Amino acid sequence: MRKIVRTANCPSCGSVKLKIKPSNGKVDYFCAECGIHVERTKCETFTSFDSKCEECGNDIFKVKIEEKEDKVFWTPFCIECHGQPALICIDYEGNEFDFKEREQLIIKNSMDLFEARLVKTEHSFYTFNEKVDKLKDIMNKNKYKALNIDK
Ligand SMILES: [Zn+2]
Ligand SMILES: [Zn+2]
Repeated sequence: MRKIVRTANCPSCGSVKLKIKPSNGKVDYFCAECGIHVERTKCETFTSFDSKCEECGNDIFKVKIEEKEDKVFWTPFCIECHGQPALICIDYEGNEFDFKEREQLIIKNSMDLFEARLVKTEHSFYTFNEKVDKLKDIMNKNKYKALNIDK
């Protein structure tokens, strides 16, 4: 199994000091020296890393990059105490919440999607029925009879 481990650094100034910006399902890394966006990594829906070290509250990290086969893992470590940022739950607006609520939010989110799909289906049924009614109307007005396709 091939495994490469290296330290992330800024492509612009070369600094290994990075800052974290958490958002829903992803983590953005910025250079602590020149401020450019270095990388965006994905995590599970409604989760992210906190922007501060869980141990000491420092907000500058060194990031270990591990490449295993075709997967790349970014693991941030505090430059002061080697601690890690906490895994947090975060919604679309960037508000933090706890893990119990995360489950509920995921359920609610899929319910909303399901509901939206249902409305769409109902709507197309409605449109279809409307067309059938119009056709019946036209047939009645013109005294057409339904075709018997057997003949
Ligand atoms: Zn930089
Ligand atoms: Zn720390």
